[in-house]
Amino acid sequence: MIDLDPRTVVFVNFTYSAFIAIFLIAAWRLSKVEFPGLGNWAIGFGLLALNFFIISFHGIIPQYIVMILPHMLVCWAYIEIKRGLSKFYKFDNRVVIDYIVMIVFSCALIYCLSNSKFRIVSVTFFLILIMIITMIHILFSKIKDKKLFIILFSIACFLQFVRMMFGLMWEPGVNPMETGNNLSTVSLLFFMTNIAIFFTLLFVVIQRIINIKNRLLVDLEKAATIDELTQLNNRRGFMNFVNLESLRLKRSRSEYAIALGDLDHFKNVNDTYGHDVGDTVLRQTAQILKKHTRESDVVARWGGEEFIFMFTGSTLKGVVKVVNRIRHAIEGHQFVHEKIEINQTVSFGISYTHDSEYNIEKMIKMADENLYEAKKYGRNKVIYRTIHCESSQQTDHEKKVNY
Ligand code: GH3
Ligand code: MG
Ligand code: MG
Repeated sequence: MIDLDPRTVVFVNFTYSAFIAIFLIAAWRLSKVEFPGLGNWAIGFGLLALNFFIISFHGIIPQYIVMILPHMLVCWAYIEIKRGLSKFYKFDNRVVIDYIVMIVFSCALIYCLSNSKFRIVSVTFFLILIMIITMIHILFSKIKDKKLFIILFSIACFLQFVRMMFGLMWEPGVNPMETGNNLSTVSLLFFMTNIAIFFTLLFVVIQRIINIKNRLLVDLEKAATIDELTQLNNRRGFMNFVNLESLRLKRSRSEYAIALGDLDHFKNVNDTYGHDVGDTVLRQTAQILKKHTRESDVVARWGGEEFIFMFTGSTLKGVVKVVNRIRHAIEGHQFVHEKIEINQTVSFGISYTHDSEYNIEKMIKMADENLYEAKKYGRNKVIYRTIHCESSQQTDHEKKVNY
Protein backbone atom coordinates (compact mmCIF):
# COMPACT_ATOMS: atom_id res chain seq x y z
CA MET A 1 0.00 0.00 0.00
CA ILE A 2 1.28 3.47 -0.89
CA ASP A 3 1.69 5.53 2.22
CA LEU A 4 2.61 9.14 1.54
CA ASP A 5 2.61 12.07 3.92
CA PRO A 6 -1.03 13.36 3.67
CA ARG A 7 0.08 17.01 3.83
CA THR A 8 2.33 16.46 0.79
CA VAL A 9 -0.55 14.75 -1.04
CA VAL A 10 -2.87 17.68 -0.24
CA PHE A 11 -0.19 20.15 -1.41
CA VAL A 12 0.35 18.26 -4.69
CA ASN A 13 -3.40 18.04 -5.25
CA PHE A 14 -3.83 21.76 -4.62
CA THR A 15 -0.94 22.70 -6.90
CA TYR A 16 -1.99 20.73 -10.00
CA SER A 17 -5.67 21.72 -9.62
CA ALA A 18 -4.72 25.38 -9.38
CA PHE A 19 -2.38 25.11 -12.38
CA ILE A 20 -5.01 23.35 -14.48
CA ALA A 21 -7.60 25.98 -13.49
CA ILE A 22 -5.20 28.79 -14.52
CA PHE A 23 -4.38 26.96 -17.77
CA LEU A 24 -8.09 26.53 -18.57
CA ILE A 25 -8.86 30.19 -17.75
CA ALA A 26 -6.00 31.30 -20.03
CA ALA A 27 -7.20 28.99 -22.83
CA TRP A 28 -10.78 30.20 -22.35
CA ARG A 29 -9.88 33.91 -22.44
CA LEU A 30 -7.14 33.79 -25.10
CA SER A 31 -8.63 31.33 -27.59
CA LYS A 32 -9.88 33.06 -30.75
CA VAL A 33 -12.12 30.07 -31.48
CA GLU A 34 -14.89 29.75 -28.92
CA PHE A 35 -14.92 26.46 -27.04
CA PRO A 36 -18.18 26.33 -25.10
CA GLY A 37 -17.74 24.77 -21.68
CA LEU A 38 -14.12 25.77 -21.16
CA GLY A 39 -15.18 28.36 -18.57
CA ASN A 40 -17.11 25.71 -16.58
CA TRP A 41 -14.11 23.37 -16.61
CA ALA A 42 -11.93 26.23 -15.32
CA ILE A 43 -14.45 26.81 -12.49
CA GLY A 44 -14.48 23.03 -11.81
CA PHE A 45 -10.71 22.78 -11.37
CA GLY A 46 -10.72 26.05 -9.41
CA LEU A 47 -13.21 24.49 -6.99
CA LEU A 48 -11.02 21.41 -6.67
CA ALA A 49 -8.06 23.64 -5.81
CA LEU A 50 -10.17 25.49 -3.23
CA ASN A 51 -11.22 22.14 -1.73
CA PHE A 52 -7.57 21.13 -1.18
CA PHE A 53 -6.74 24.59 0.12
CA ILE A 54 -9.43 24.25 2.81
CA ILE A 55 -8.30 20.68 3.69
CA SER A 56 -4.79 22.00 4.31
CA PHE A 57 -6.24 23.92 7.29
CA HIS A 58 -7.11 20.66 9.02
CA GLY A 59 -6.74 21.15 12.75
CA ILE A 60 -6.72 24.95 12.46
CA ILE A 61 -10.30 25.71 11.45
CA PRO A 62 -13.44 24.04 12.88
CA GLN A 63 -13.80 20.33 12.12
CA TYR A 64 -17.25 20.57 10.47
CA ILE A 65 -15.98 23.14 7.94
CA VAL A 66 -13.00 20.96 7.00
CA MET A 67 -15.20 17.86 6.81
CA ILE A 68 -18.23 19.19 4.94
CA LEU A 69 -17.19 22.16 2.80
CA PRO A 70 -14.44 20.38 0.76
CA HIS A 71 -16.80 17.52 -0.08
CA MET A 72 -19.43 19.95 -1.28
CA LEU A 73 -16.83 21.78 -3.38
CA VAL A 74 -15.71 18.52 -5.00
CA CYS A 75 -19.30 17.63 -5.92
CA TRP A 76 -19.87 21.13 -7.24
CA ALA A 77 -16.61 20.87 -9.26
CA TYR A 78 -17.81 17.69 -10.98
CA ILE A 79 -21.21 19.27 -11.64
CA GLU A 80 -19.38 22.16 -13.37
CA ILE A 81 -17.28 19.71 -15.42
CA LYS A 82 -20.48 17.93 -16.51
CA ARG A 83 -22.08 21.30 -17.28
CA GLY A 84 -19.07 22.28 -19.39
CA LEU A 85 -19.28 18.99 -21.29
CA SER A 86 -22.99 19.57 -21.94
CA LYS A 87 -22.09 22.92 -23.53
CA PHE A 88 -19.13 21.48 -25.43
CA TYR A 89 -21.09 18.54 -26.84
CA LYS A 90 -24.44 20.39 -26.85
CA PHE A 91 -26.45 17.85 -24.88
CA ASP A 92 -29.38 18.61 -22.64
CA ASN A 93 -28.22 19.12 -19.06
CA ARG A 94 -30.56 19.59 -16.10
CA VAL A 95 -28.07 21.34 -13.84
CA VAL A 96 -30.81 22.21 -11.30
CA ILE A 97 -31.36 18.50 -10.60
CA ASP A 98 -27.58 18.12 -10.01
CA TYR A 99 -27.65 20.97 -7.50
CA ILE A 100 -30.72 19.62 -5.70
CA VAL A 101 -29.07 16.19 -5.36
CA MET A 102 -25.90 17.89 -4.12
CA ILE A 103 -27.77 19.88 -1.44
CA VAL A 104 -29.71 16.79 -0.23
CA PHE A 105 -26.47 14.89 -0.14
CA SER A 106 -24.72 17.69 1.80
CA CYS A 107 -27.50 17.58 4.41
CA ALA A 108 -26.85 13.83 4.77
CA LEU A 109 -23.14 14.57 5.21
CA ILE A 110 -23.86 17.07 7.98
CA TYR A 111 -26.16 14.50 9.60
CA CYS A 112 -23.45 11.81 9.49
CA LEU A 113 -20.62 14.16 10.42
CA SER A 114 -18.88 11.64 12.67
CA ASN A 115 -19.00 8.79 10.12
CA SER A 116 -15.85 9.38 8.02
CA LYS A 117 -16.28 6.16 6.03
CA PHE A 118 -19.78 7.15 4.96
CA ARG A 119 -18.48 10.56 3.94
CA ILE A 120 -15.70 9.33 1.70
CA VAL A 121 -17.72 6.52 0.10
CA SER A 122 -20.81 8.62 -0.53
CA VAL A 123 -18.85 11.50 -2.10
CA THR A 124 -17.05 9.06 -4.38
CA PHE A 125 -20.38 7.45 -5.26
CA PHE A 126 -21.82 10.87 -6.14
CA LEU A 127 -18.85 11.62 -8.43
CA ILE A 128 -19.14 8.23 -10.17
CA LEU A 129 -22.85 8.90 -10.66
CA ILE A 130 -22.16 12.30 -12.23
CA MET A 131 -19.58 10.73 -14.57
CA ILE A 132 -21.85 7.84 -15.58
CA ILE A 133 -24.78 10.20 -16.29
CA THR A 134 -22.44 12.35 -18.42
CA MET A 135 -21.28 9.30 -20.37
CA ILE A 136 -24.86 8.09 -20.91
CA HIS A 137 -25.80 11.53 -22.28
CA ILE A 138 -22.88 11.45 -24.71
CA LEU A 139 -23.28 7.77 -25.62
CA PHE A 140 -26.93 8.20 -26.62
CA SER A 141 -26.55 11.53 -28.37
CA LYS A 142 -25.82 12.08 -32.07
CA ILE A 143 -22.33 13.34 -31.28
CA LYS A 144 -19.64 12.29 -33.75
CA ASP A 145 -16.14 11.36 -32.56
CA LYS A 146 -17.24 10.35 -29.06
CA LYS A 147 -15.09 7.21 -28.85
CA LEU A 148 -12.03 8.99 -27.46
CA PHE A 149 -14.08 10.76 -24.83
CA ILE A 150 -15.82 7.57 -23.68
CA ILE A 151 -12.52 5.64 -23.38
CA LEU A 152 -10.74 8.36 -21.37
CA PHE A 153 -13.72 9.20 -19.19
CA SER A 154 -14.24 5.49 -18.43
CA ILE A 155 -10.65 5.39 -17.12
CA ALA A 156 -11.43 8.33 -14.81
CA CYS A 157 -14.62 6.58 -13.70
CA PHE A 158 -12.76 3.34 -13.01
CA LEU A 159 -10.12 5.15 -10.93
CA GLN A 160 -12.88 6.77 -8.91
CA PHE A 161 -14.43 3.33 -8.42
CA VAL A 162 -11.12 1.94 -7.09
CA ARG A 163 -11.00 4.97 -4.80
CA MET A 164 -14.44 4.08 -3.47
CA MET A 165 -13.22 0.54 -2.73
CA PHE A 166 -10.24 1.94 -0.80
CA GLY A 167 -12.61 4.28 1.02
CA LEU A 168 -14.58 1.24 2.16
CA MET A 169 -11.39 -0.25 3.60
CA TRP A 170 -10.43 2.94 5.42
CA GLU A 171 -10.24 2.71 9.21
CA PRO A 172 -12.48 5.44 10.60
CA GLY A 173 -11.29 7.36 13.58
CA VAL A 174 -7.70 7.67 12.40
CA ASN A 175 -6.40 11.23 12.09
CA PRO A 176 -6.37 11.77 8.31
CA MET A 177 -3.42 14.12 8.54
CA GLU A 178 -1.13 11.45 9.95
CA THR A 179 0.68 8.79 7.92
CA GLY A 180 -0.12 5.16 8.59
CA ASN A 181 -3.67 5.02 7.18
CA ASN A 182 -4.68 4.38 3.59
CA LEU A 183 -6.18 7.86 3.15
CA SER A 184 -3.14 8.85 1.13
CA THR A 185 -3.97 6.05 -1.33
CA VAL A 186 -7.51 7.36 -1.58
CA SER A 187 -6.17 10.90 -2.18
CA LEU A 188 -3.69 9.60 -4.73
CA LEU A 189 -6.50 7.87 -6.60
CA PHE A 190 -8.45 11.13 -6.54
CA PHE A 191 -5.38 12.84 -8.00
CA MET A 192 -5.24 10.22 -10.77
CA THR A 193 -8.98 10.57 -11.48
CA ASN A 194 -8.71 14.34 -11.85
CA ILE A 195 -5.67 14.04 -14.10
CA ALA A 196 -7.57 11.49 -16.25
CA ILE A 197 -10.48 13.96 -16.47
CA PHE A 198 -8.12 16.78 -17.40
CA PHE A 199 -6.56 14.68 -20.18
CA THR A 200 -10.04 13.73 -21.39
CA LEU A 201 -10.94 17.42 -21.70
CA LEU A 202 -7.59 18.25 -23.29
CA PHE A 203 -7.89 15.51 -25.90
CA VAL A 204 -11.47 16.31 -26.82
CA VAL A 205 -10.49 19.96 -27.31
CA ILE A 206 -7.50 18.92 -29.45
CA GLN A 207 -9.79 16.62 -31.44
CA ARG A 208 -12.19 19.54 -31.96
CA ILE A 209 -9.32 21.83 -33.06
CA ILE A 210 -8.22 19.22 -35.63
CA ASN A 211 -11.81 18.90 -36.89
CA ILE A 212 -12.16 22.68 -37.18
CA LYS A 213 -8.84 22.86 -39.06
CA ASN A 214 -9.91 20.13 -41.48
CA ARG A 215 -13.26 21.81 -42.04
CA LEU A 216 -11.53 25.14 -42.68
CA LEU A 217 -9.30 23.50 -45.27
CA VAL A 218 -12.35 22.05 -47.03
CA ASP A 219 -14.11 25.47 -46.90
CA LEU A 220 -10.98 27.17 -48.18
CA GLU A 221 -10.67 24.70 -51.04
CA LYS A 222 -14.34 25.27 -51.82
CA ALA A 223 -14.00 29.07 -51.66
CA ALA A 224 -11.02 28.86 -54.02
CA THR A 225 -12.77 26.69 -56.61
CA ILE A 226 -16.46 27.63 -56.38
CA ASP A 227 -17.98 30.84 -57.70
CA GLU A 228 -19.89 32.61 -54.93
CA LEU A 229 -22.69 34.03 -57.09
CA THR A 230 -23.62 31.03 -59.22
CA GLN A 231 -22.24 28.19 -57.07
CA LEU A 232 -20.68 26.75 -60.24
CA ASN A 233 -16.98 25.93 -60.45
CA ASN A 234 -14.87 28.99 -61.08
CA ARG A 235 -11.93 29.15 -63.50
CA ARG A 236 -9.58 27.46 -61.00
CA GLY A 237 -12.14 24.74 -60.21
CA PHE A 238 -12.60 24.11 -63.92
CA MET A 239 -8.86 23.85 -64.59
CA ASN A 240 -8.41 21.48 -61.61
CA PHE A 241 -11.09 19.23 -63.03
CA VAL A 242 -9.74 19.45 -66.57
CA ASN A 243 -6.18 18.60 -65.49
CA LEU A 244 -7.43 15.45 -63.75
CA GLU A 245 -9.77 14.58 -66.59
CA SER A 246 -7.09 15.01 -69.27
CA LEU A 247 -4.97 12.32 -67.56
CA ARG A 248 -7.92 9.94 -67.74
CA LEU A 249 -8.61 10.93 -71.35
CA LYS A 250 -5.01 10.23 -72.36
CA ARG A 251 -5.32 6.71 -70.98
CA SER A 252 -8.63 6.01 -72.69
CA ARG A 253 -7.68 8.00 -75.85
CA SER A 254 -11.20 9.35 -76.11
CA GLU A 255 -12.51 12.50 -77.73
CA TYR A 256 -13.59 15.65 -75.95
CA ALA A 257 -15.12 19.07 -76.54
CA ILE A 258 -14.86 22.53 -75.01
CA ALA A 259 -17.79 24.93 -75.26
CA LEU A 260 -17.75 28.60 -74.31
CA GLY A 261 -21.04 30.43 -73.82
CA ASP A 262 -21.49 34.19 -73.46
CA LEU A 263 -24.75 35.98 -72.65
CA ASP A 264 -25.76 38.36 -75.44
CA HIS A 265 -25.88 42.10 -74.76
CA PHE A 266 -25.75 41.39 -71.06
CA LYS A 267 -24.39 44.85 -70.35
CA ASN A 268 -27.83 46.21 -71.36
CA VAL A 269 -29.46 44.20 -68.53
CA ASN A 270 -27.20 45.84 -65.96
CA ASP A 271 -27.52 49.28 -67.54
CA THR A 272 -31.32 49.11 -67.79
CA TYR A 273 -32.35 47.28 -64.61
CA GLY A 274 -29.30 47.43 -62.35
CA HIS A 275 -26.63 45.05 -61.14
CA ASP A 276 -28.95 43.04 -58.85
CA VAL A 277 -31.13 42.05 -61.78
CA GLY A 278 -27.98 41.12 -63.72
CA ASP A 279 -26.93 38.90 -60.82
CA THR A 280 -30.32 37.16 -60.81
CA VAL A 281 -29.98 36.45 -64.54
CA LEU A 282 -26.51 34.96 -63.94
CA ARG A 283 -27.78 32.78 -61.06
CA GLN A 284 -30.76 31.50 -63.03
CA THR A 285 -28.57 30.88 -66.08
CA ALA A 286 -26.28 28.73 -63.91
CA GLN A 287 -29.29 26.65 -62.81
CA ILE A 288 -30.34 26.10 -66.42
CA LEU A 289 -26.80 25.04 -67.35
CA LYS A 290 -26.64 22.55 -64.48
CA LYS A 291 -30.06 21.16 -65.35
CA HIS A 292 -29.08 20.46 -68.96
CA THR A 293 -25.66 18.89 -68.41
CA ARG A 294 -24.74 15.43 -67.15
CA GLU A 295 -22.85 14.75 -63.92
CA SER A 296 -19.82 13.76 -65.97
CA ASP A 297 -19.75 17.04 -67.93
CA VAL A 298 -18.19 19.95 -66.14
CA VAL A 299 -19.64 23.43 -66.32
CA ALA A 300 -18.02 26.50 -64.80
CA ARG A 301 -18.23 30.27 -64.73
CA TRP A 302 -15.29 31.32 -66.84
CA GLY A 303 -15.66 34.97 -65.80
CA GLY A 304 -18.27 37.79 -65.99
CA GLU A 305 -21.15 36.47 -68.10
CA GLU A 306 -19.11 33.70 -69.74
CA PHE A 307 -19.52 30.00 -69.03
CA ILE A 308 -17.33 27.10 -70.04
CA PHE A 309 -18.07 23.38 -70.50
CA MET A 310 -16.04 20.25 -71.01
CA PHE A 311 -17.84 17.32 -72.61
CA THR A 312 -16.15 13.94 -72.70
CA GLY A 313 -17.10 10.68 -74.38
CA SER A 314 -19.68 12.30 -76.70
CA THR A 315 -19.80 12.63 -80.46
CA LEU A 316 -19.66 16.12 -81.96
CA LYS A 317 -23.29 15.71 -82.94
CA GLY A 318 -24.18 14.89 -79.34
CA VAL A 319 -22.31 17.90 -77.97
CA VAL A 320 -23.89 20.31 -80.46
CA LYS A 321 -27.29 18.89 -79.59
CA VAL A 322 -26.79 19.48 -75.86
CA VAL A 323 -25.41 22.99 -76.39
CA ASN A 324 -28.31 23.90 -78.69
CA ARG A 325 -30.72 22.54 -76.09
CA ILE A 326 -29.13 24.88 -73.52
CA ARG A 327 -29.29 27.78 -75.94
CA HIS A 328 -33.01 27.16 -76.54
CA ALA A 329 -33.65 26.73 -72.79
CA ILE A 330 -32.11 30.14 -72.06
CA GLU A 331 -33.88 31.76 -74.99
CA GLY A 332 -37.22 30.38 -73.82
CA HIS A 333 -36.72 31.16 -70.13
CA GLN A 334 -38.43 34.11 -68.52
CA PHE A 335 -35.86 35.55 -66.11
CA VAL A 336 -37.70 37.15 -63.19
CA HIS A 337 -36.33 39.52 -60.56
CA GLU A 338 -39.04 40.88 -58.26
CA LYS A 339 -41.52 42.15 -60.86
CA ILE A 340 -39.05 42.61 -63.68
CA GLU A 341 -39.22 40.06 -66.50
CA ILE A 342 -36.31 39.66 -68.91
CA ASN A 343 -35.55 37.58 -71.96
CA GLN A 344 -31.97 36.61 -72.61
CA THR A 345 -30.07 34.81 -75.33
CA VAL A 346 -26.63 33.23 -75.39
CA SER A 347 -23.98 32.53 -78.03
CA PHE A 348 -21.70 29.49 -78.07
CA GLY A 349 -18.38 28.51 -79.58
CA ILE A 350 -17.39 24.83 -79.55
CA SER A 351 -14.10 23.11 -80.31
CA TYR A 352 -14.07 19.34 -80.71
CA THR A 353 -11.20 16.89 -81.08
CA HIS A 354 -10.74 13.14 -81.44
CA ASP A 355 -7.23 13.45 -80.09
CA SER A 356 -7.31 13.33 -76.31
CA GLU A 357 -3.73 14.64 -76.22
CA TYR A 358 -4.66 17.84 -77.99
CA ASN A 359 -3.66 20.86 -75.91
CA ILE A 360 -6.50 22.14 -73.70
CA GLU A 361 -5.40 25.80 -73.92
CA LYS A 362 -5.56 25.63 -77.72
CA MET A 363 -8.99 24.01 -77.47
CA ILE A 364 -10.23 26.88 -75.25
CA LYS A 365 -8.71 29.43 -77.63
CA MET A 366 -10.45 27.77 -80.57
CA ALA A 367 -13.79 27.74 -78.72
CA ASP A 368 -13.30 31.45 -77.95
CA GLU A 369 -12.64 32.25 -81.62
CA ASN A 370 -15.79 30.38 -82.57
CA LEU A 371 -17.72 32.29 -79.90
CA TYR A 372 -16.41 35.54 -81.37
CA GLU A 373 -17.72 34.46 -84.75
CA ALA A 374 -21.09 33.53 -83.26
CA LYS A 375 -21.31 37.10 -81.96
CA LYS A 376 -20.19 38.50 -85.31
CA TYR A 377 -22.82 36.50 -87.22
CA GLY A 378 -25.66 37.94 -85.16
CA ARG A 379 -25.59 36.20 -81.70
CA ASN A 380 -27.86 33.47 -80.27
CA LYS A 381 -25.89 30.95 -82.36
CA VAL A 382 -23.63 27.93 -81.93
CA ILE A 383 -20.46 27.76 -84.00
CA TYR A 384 -18.37 24.60 -83.85
CA ARG A 385 -15.18 23.20 -85.31
CA THR A 386 -13.61 19.79 -85.27
CA ILE A 387 -9.87 19.77 -84.97
CA HIS A 388 -8.21 16.90 -86.84
CA CYS A 389 -4.59 16.59 -85.94
CA GLU A 390 -1.59 14.30 -86.29
CA SER A 391 1.00 14.45 -83.49
CA SER A 392 -0.63 17.64 -82.27
CA GLN A 393 -0.13 19.25 -85.69
CA GLN A 394 -3.40 20.76 -86.74
CA THR A 395 -4.18 19.68 -90.30
CA ASP A 396 -7.79 20.42 -90.96
CA HIS A 397 -10.70 22.56 -89.74
CA GLU A 398 -14.33 22.26 -90.53
CA LYS A 399 -16.49 25.08 -89.39
CA LYS A 400 -20.22 24.73 -88.91
CA VAL A 401 -22.74 27.32 -87.92
CA ASN A 402 -25.84 26.26 -86.11
CA TYR A 403 -28.89 28.47 -85.75
P1 GH3 B 1 -21.95 40.66 -76.04
O1 GH3 B 1 -23.24 40.21 -76.58
O2 GH3 B 1 -21.02 41.14 -77.06
O3 GH3 B 1 -21.32 39.64 -75.14
O4 GH3 B 1 -22.29 41.93 -75.15
P2 GH3 B 1 -22.26 42.03 -73.58
O5 GH3 B 1 -22.96 43.28 -73.22
O6 GH3 B 1 -22.83 40.79 -72.98
O7 GH3 B 1 -20.72 42.06 -73.27
P3 GH3 B 1 -19.82 43.08 -72.52
O8 GH3 B 1 -18.49 42.43 -72.40
O9 GH3 B 1 -19.86 44.43 -73.16
O10 GH3 B 1 -20.47 43.23 -71.09
C1 GH3 B 1 -20.45 42.22 -70.15
C2 GH3 B 1 -21.17 42.74 -68.93
O11 GH3 B 1 -21.26 41.73 -67.94
C3 GH3 B 1 -20.47 43.90 -68.31
C4 GH3 B 1 -20.46 43.62 -66.82
O12 GH3 B 1 -21.02 44.66 -66.10
C5 GH3 B 1 -21.37 42.40 -66.71
N1 GH3 B 1 -20.98 41.53 -65.60
C6 GH3 B 1 -19.83 40.83 -65.47
N2 GH3 B 1 -19.82 40.15 -64.29
C7 GH3 B 1 -20.99 40.46 -63.67
C8 GH3 B 1 -21.57 40.09 -62.43
O13 GH3 B 1 -21.01 39.34 -61.64
N3 GH3 B 1 -22.79 40.60 -62.12
C9 GH3 B 1 -23.45 41.43 -62.96
N4 GH3 B 1 -24.65 41.89 -62.62
N5 GH3 B 1 -22.92 41.79 -64.13
C10 GH3 B 1 -21.71 41.32 -64.50
MG1 MG C 1 -21.84 38.98 -73.33
MG1 MG D 1 -18.29 38.53 -72.32
